Amino acid sequence: MFTWRRSRLKKAMKSKRLRLVYNPNAGRRKLTGQLDTAIRIFQESGHEVCIHRASSSEDIEKIASQSMDVDRLVIAGGDGSIHQAVNGLLRIAANKRPVLGILPVGTANDLAYALHLPKSIPDACQVIGKGNSFKMDTGKLNDRYFVNVASAGLLTDVSQKVDTHVKNTLGQLAYFLKGIETLPSFKPFRVEFDRDGNRYTEEVVLFMAVNGLSVGGLRNLVPRASLTDGKLDILVVPAAGWPETLRLLLSILTGEKVKAEKIMEFHTSELTVLTDRPINSDLDGEAGPESTWHIEMGPKISVLC
Ligand SMILES: [Mg+2]
Repeated sequence: MFTWRRSRLKKAMKSKRLRLVYNPNAGRRKLTGQLDTAIRIFQESGHEVCIHRASSSEDIEKIASQSMDVDRLVIAGGDGSIHQAVNGLLRIAANKRPVLGILPVGTANDLAYALHLPKSIPDACQVIGKGNSFKMDTGKLNDRYFVNVASAGLLTDVSQKVDTHVKNTLGQLAYFLKGIETLPSFKPFRVEFDRDGNRYTEEVVLFMAVNGLSVGGLRNLVPRASLTDGKLDILVVPAAGWPETLRLLLSILTGEKVKAEKIMEFHTSELTVLTDRPINSDLDGEAGPESTWHIEMGPKISVLC
């Protein structure tokens, strides 16, 4: 009895191991000035803390894939950093995989919004310290996972093209400016997929598979979306001549797309999309695989929130 109690006590007192990964160049709201506060809050909530300063996005994925030695993996960054971390974490067997924590310091924090995470660093640290976890869906496109959105076409590869300094200074505005810049040179592409037994073929300017609740800060894009329904929200914007295409895009940006009946929108857990030429995809603001795309649900992942 005594031994049993002592081992129980020992287990209860054993602190959880937490690895904090941060990119010193990510986001306008840098973590570096608040690193000490973050460590204090994590330690006070019973965590043994180790720190990894990421030298690149590939480095985030690599350290995440090796993090079976910790109970929590906390990423200070935006959607792109979370994307890399999740791709690393999903290489670890589910029973050895640490729970993901997020400190939203990036330029794009759509996933943090979907999880209702506080914007302030100390508050977000407290949430992680409390340790309540939630199982959320992930999406998969070919061999890569995504947490918020997979997309192709207009306005979507903007994040990859905008310089980090410009992004940090201008934030959301940088995406729109770059998006407008790409309008005149953009060529629509043809997509082909099966839906409800019918073959759908259309020239399009934008294709999106959304897992989260907002894209690029646009919160009315997929108002009925859920992070736990095991489904992705597909949005397809057909090419329709520039004045009409602009009207459709504006309707998306303002959340008025219900009135733009030409936009196709549906839920699915799986879709294979063929295109008339190789098209680049964008996953959570990072470069993704070229088409053809096989899109499906990935495993659910535990997140602190
Ligand atoms: Mg969903």
